[in-house]
Amino acid sequence: MSYENLAGRTAVVTGAASGIGEAVAVTLAAQGARVALLARRAERLDAVVEKIRADGGQALAVVADVTDDASVAAAVERIHEAYGSVDLVVNNAGVMQPNPIEDARVDEWQAMIDTNLTGVLRITGAFAKDLGEAAARGGSADLVNVSSIAAHLTGYPGVAVYGATKAAVTHLSALLRSEFGPRGVRVTNIEPGVTETEIVSHLDEGGQEMVGGLVEAFGALAPGELADVVAYVASRPRHVNLRQVVVLPTRQV
Ligand code: NDP
Repeated sequence: MSYENLAGRTAVVTGAASGIGEAVAVTLAAQGARVALLARRAERLDAVVEKIRADGGQALAVVADVTDDASVAAAVERIHEAYGSVDLVVNNAGVMQPNPIEDARVDEWQAMIDTNLTGVLRITGAFAKDLGEAAARGGSADLVNVSSIAAHLTGYPGVAVYGATKAAVTHLSALLRSEFGPRGVRVTNIEPGVTETEIVSHLDEGGQEMVGGLVEAFGALAPGELADVVAYVASRPRHVNLRQVVVLPTRQV
């Protein structure tokens, strides 16, 4: 698919080492954006960057942990040095660790809150000035948060904390519009349904079984189908803001 208004944009995509983030980075670069790819695994980022460059795109691998202040500060500096100010930020990095609440896995709760919520805040805070300035110059400026349909689902035991972090992201996205909207910066919250990525491979046997059951029942989206949505929302005329997009496999209810 081809989108106008993305050539010449400067994007940051977190969690770009795999899955949805990788697909978003590849898609934006293919449309002519310069893309900084953030994640913790250097070799995975390098492979994606190599692929983008081989296809004639512009990309920069930035090893960073969104849960760490110093790491994000160093990443921001690196991106500014290489690309200058950014005008499209995709908060996509996230982890899911489903377990019954009675297991009291404080370590997992903390990891999900730190990555899925505080990580989004840390990146948003770090690039808020860039986005405001891009809009003030008369260009498009976008904050795109990848939340989840899990923000609303109540029938799946074990994902309460993950769902709570995503509900926080969904609500945060809506509330941030009061700060960003008047400055001409769009905020879009995307809630994907079941999507075939490696997020499942990080789960224990019980978690893999649960997600496997969902895929069997509903089918799954491909990461590129979410990337397509990100490219669509960021390429609308700058006064058009898709605030909330829920993207589900057709059979997912
Ligand atoms: P993946 O596991 O493939 O991608 C997650 C990405 O986040 C990886 O690139 C990982 O790279 C990165 N990441 C994780 N922790 C950190 C961190 N602390 N700092 C920087 N990067 C980090 O899964 P998905 O593509 O599925 O997930 C992308 C987003 O989509 C997540 O927010 C997820 O919650 C959401 N989502 C996924 C759905 C699905 O069905 N797959 C459904 C709904 C929402 P690295 O390990 O190298 O840091």
